[in-house]
Amino acid sequence: MKVIVLGSGVIGVTSAWELARAGHEVTVIDRSAGPALETSFANAGEVSPGYSTPWAAPGIPLKALKWAFQRHAPLVLNPLASLKAAGWLGQMLSNCTSEAYAVNKGRMVRVAEYSRDRLAALRQETGISYDERTQGTLQLLRSQKQLDGLQKDIEVLREDGVPFELLSAEECLLHEPGLAGSKHLIAGGLRLPGDETGDCFKFTNRLAEMAKALGVTFRHGVTVKGLDKQGDRIVGIQTSEGPMVADAYVVAMGSFSPALVKSLGMKLPVYPLKGYSLTIPIMDAARAPESTVMDETYKVAITRLGDRIRVGGLAEIAGFDTSLNDRRRATLEKSVGDLFGGAGDMAAATFWAGLRPMTPDGTPVIGRTPVQNLFLNTGHGTLGWTMSMGSAKVLSDIVSRRPTEIDASDLGISRYGRGVTATRGGLKPATA
Ligand SMILES: Cc1cc2nc3c(=O)[nH]c(=O)nc-3n(C[C@H](O)[C@H](O)[C@H](O)COP(=O)(O)OP(=O)(O)OC[C@H]3O[C@@H](n4cnc5c(N)ncnc54)[C@H](O)[C@@H]3O)c2cc1C
Repeated sequence: MKVIVLGSGVIGVTSAWELARAGHEVTVIDRSAGPALETSFANAGEVSPGYSTPWAAPGIPLKALKWAFQRHAPLVLNPLASLKAAGWLGQMLSNCTSEAYAVNKGRMVRVAEYSRDRLAALRQETGISYDERTQGTLQLLRSQKQLDGLQKDIEVLREDGVPFELLSAEECLLHEPGLAGSKHLIAGGLRLPGDETGDCFKFTNRLAEMAKALGVTFRHGVTVKGLDKQGDRIVGIQTSEGPMVADAYVVAMGSFSPALVKSLGMKLPVYPLKGYSLTIPIMDAARAPESTVMDETYKVAITRLGDRIRVGGLAEIAGFDTSLNDRRRATLEKSVGDLFGGAGDMAAATFWAGLRPMTPDGTPVIGRTPVQNLFLNTGHGTLGWTMSMGSAKVLSDIVSRRPTEIDASDLGISRYGRGVTATRGGLKPATA
């Protein structure tokens, strides 16, 4: 079958790889000059099923109010953009109940753990390398209050069977010796030994090369302008290079997916949640992180990627604006400066912003749509790198009409049939 994948971020490229492996003739179309040049370019690098948690959680509305008055707040709401996003924010709020949180978390963990296993299998099979490290991740707590607040997270980890270690400040240093100079700031840590890190941009580009070797065609510099529908099928797409035709179409355009399917009457609740990162060349490797350290105070992840440190995080409701804000940079610099001072050359750092394609329930949208040959693999929000390999295999199995290896009945757009609060099955369980 001829399949066109729209988008060559980590989600589009992994989709193309799995579809090609399933025997399809695949073309990937993207407006950028190469793979992973938008949100998949400089994320925080965590492959973290252990932290696969929806942002819509009980207590978040109150925390968001408190953050409004903090200088280094993890979440910033631009008033005008927030007004425009009121509908989506309302949907997110309705997912902040304990019941919705449990359903959404269950879905995310299911996809993320499957993804981590698929990524490990890919590494073993192909030897793909991307500055990966499989040394776990460490959530760093700076106060007793934060330590006390861990209890709920620990219960969830136990329930989900995720291995974890609760560490004292001294024990944190055994895993992350670069923290020695900031020991006085550390109250303790929660280590997830099963989590990994790696450079999503390198991974996506290397996988794209491997996909080309399997016969996948990449058409870069081509903008998708619309979908042509006749009856209940897509009969072609309109692009800046003219019309293109296939048997099936996969939308993996990140935050730009909703605008494309809107013309078909589909309401895809994916919002561009802005985040920032700094990439810092390492000057003193002994002071740098070994793996990923999550600074709970600022909700910032500090990751070792080869000879660089990636510091990423923060969330801003700011529409599609990707301009760089110096106040956010100051927050990233404060976090890494506090914990790994002197490790990197801050003057040579690269500052970046990207748009997380975020659903109100935190779960990506993977699977069929009411249009027969149109499929979605999008809305991966804060965890697209983590969830990429598993999402791609689920998508490929659904396109190929094969049974999926994990339950995908509640991952599709049909789950929004009754509004956007979590429901176990959605309207039509057959429509993944
Ligand atoms: C600061 C930050 C930190 C993050 N940290 C992590 C992390 O540690 N771990 C993790 O798992 N995830 C993380 N994420 C999330 C992760 O990066 C995203 O979920 C993921 O990159 C989304 O991939 P995507 O392929 O869906 O979107 P994108 O990478 O944005 O790809 C979409 C593609 O569609 C193309 N496109 C869009 N519109 C059109 C059009 N009209 N025509 C043609 N092409 C088009 C774009 O050019 C782009 O290449 C982070 C994100 C941010 C912003």
